[in-house]
Amino acid sequence: MALVEIRDVRKSFGQVEVLKGVSLEVKEGEIVTIIGRSGSGKSTLLRCINALEKIDSGSITVEGQAVSAGMANLRQFRQRVGIVFQAFNLFPHLTVEKNITLAPLLTKKIGKAEARPLALDVLGRVGLADKIDAWPERLSGGQQQRVAIARCLAMAPHLMLFDEVTSALDPELVGEVLKVMEDMARQGMTMILVTHEMGFARNVANKIVFMHQGKVWEEGPPAELFANPKTPELRSFINSVK
Ligand code: ADP
Ligand code: MG
Repeated sequence: MALVEIRDVRKSFGQVEVLKGVSLEVKEGEIVTIIGRSGSGKSTLLRCINALEKIDSGSITVEGQAVSAGMANLRQFRQRVGIVFQAFNLFPHLTVEKNITLAPLLTKKIGKAEARPLALDVLGRVGLADKIDAWPERLSGGQQQRVAIARCLAMAPHLMLFDEVTSALDPELVGEVLKVMEDMARQGMTMILVTHEMGFARNVANKIVFMHQGKVWEEGPPAELFANPKTPELRSFINSVK
């Protein structure tokens, strides 16, 4: 069974249907990149996978468990599925350590003595162990985004969702965040990413999903999809991001 199974998912906001029957499978350890124009439904799909939005019909399962906004054990579910957004969302009044350990202390009931070693461990994985006592505002955007990723890792997720996490960064800071995600991919994390970084999509992803007008328009291995787009919509999208 795939780690994520999405079957014919539909989602409307008011009269506007934003997801029009989306189906997608993500196997354990797979890196899936979702590409597509603004407004095609990419963020909505990620938010549905994390039960931040309620689907109207169809089904989503993660590790065999049906996902819905009203599901039982929502909190435990969210521990297993990390999500990082474009905006860094760090708590400005908390140090890096406290940003990372707040949720594990509250929801995983780890002991106080375990908190700092845990923060050091996950910060080490994003190359920022030396910033454990820093305040978020003293960090660059790239460093803040890496802390946001470390904060997710502290919950030991089984699946990570990334929604355009490098889009708000100055160009010179994009690489360090992509490298952290590449390292996570290499270590076997299952990941679904929405990104405009076509180099990353090409080199790291196992599968590319092109969304268009609320549907999975085309999907396939990166080399194939980029070399032989089957639809004019994907062809024109690829040309627009070159
Ligand atoms: P993408 O991430 O591909 O740019 P989104 O999933 O953010 O696309 O949005 C798809 C469509 O759904 C857009 O037309 C957007 O305006 C609409 N939409 C997204 N979220 C909401 C919401 N909470 N309420 C109303 N409309 C929304
Ligand atoms: Mg979006």
